[in-house]
Amino acid sequence: MSRVAYVNGRYVRHAEAAVHIEDRGYQFSDGIYEVTAIWKGRPVDLEGHWIRLERSLSELEIPMPMSAKALTVVARETVRRNLVRNGILYTQITRGVAPRNHLFPANTPPALVMTARSGLGPSAAVIEKGVKVIGLPDIRWGRRDIKTVSLLPNAIAKQRAHEQGAAETFLYTPDGVVTECSSSNAWMVTKEGVLVTRPLGHDILGGITRQRLILIAKEAGVPVEERPFTLEEAKAARELFLTSTTNFCLSVVQIDETVIGNGHPGGLTRELRAQYMEFLDKLEGPVWYDH
Ligand code: PMP
Repeated sequence: MSRVAYVNGRYVRHAEAAVHIEDRGYQFSDGIYEVTAIWKGRPVDLEGHWIRLERSLSELEIPMPMSAKALTVVARETVRRNLVRNGILYTQITRGVAPRNHLFPANTPPALVMTARSGLGPSAAVIEKGVKVIGLPDIRWGRRDIKTVSLLPNAIAKQRAHEQGAAETFLYTPDGVVTECSSSNAWMVTKEGVLVTRPLGHDILGGITRQRLILIAKEAGVPVEERPFTLEEAKAARELFLTSTTNFCLSVVQIDETVIGNGHPGGLTRELRAQYMEFLDKLEGPVWYDH
């Protein structure tokens, strides 16, 4: 099966899919993206992803290339053509193609690309063991709430983690307060059993998984506090974990040289992950692809 990409109105072979060299995404990272999980053929929290996509575009004054309803039609077709039952849908929108100039071009239509591929989440062994993270200064810009394709500091952070045998980073501001991870949101469980994650604002991306997990935790009667916490607090926490579209809820068992708890995934983290899996299994709406 050859993969298929949607590029500005056409479904093309993935291997030959291309955009113009003066696409502003390429020259200025002037664009945004979304990654949506596909679970058993259904999109996960699609509405939340489209709401965030529309917000990212609006903050950058890029028009929607089409309505959310039309995006869904293209998304479904992209998933179907790529035979994705468990995997991810990638959507990217840039300010479009124009002669290179920092100023926003007038009358330029935004460019839209969608791809989909099978494969989702870490292996069962990684989930069972939990992951190590490293603490790193957060060197990103001041609008991390906008999901831009400008991911260079995130990529560098992930690379540094990898070089130290870690899966992720807990990024922190100069005062030692944790923002989030390079591609996920950061959480801790205090000694008192309170679930803590940084509140929304310009400093972090409002994760769709974060939003869903807050709902799940509250429904389960787990106390949730949206407040900043420091790297030092994290190191002394009972449990740590991270959330993202592709990792769901993944236990963190070590930061730098500090082992968290007994070095194994904590009980509340496991419970929340189980509840998130239950939420996935109960998704409703049309199945986009099944085989
Ligand atoms: N923060 C950052 C910086 C991210 O890149 C991501 C994943 N895109 C997240 C948080 C988690 O967001 P979501 O749960 O919507 O995948």
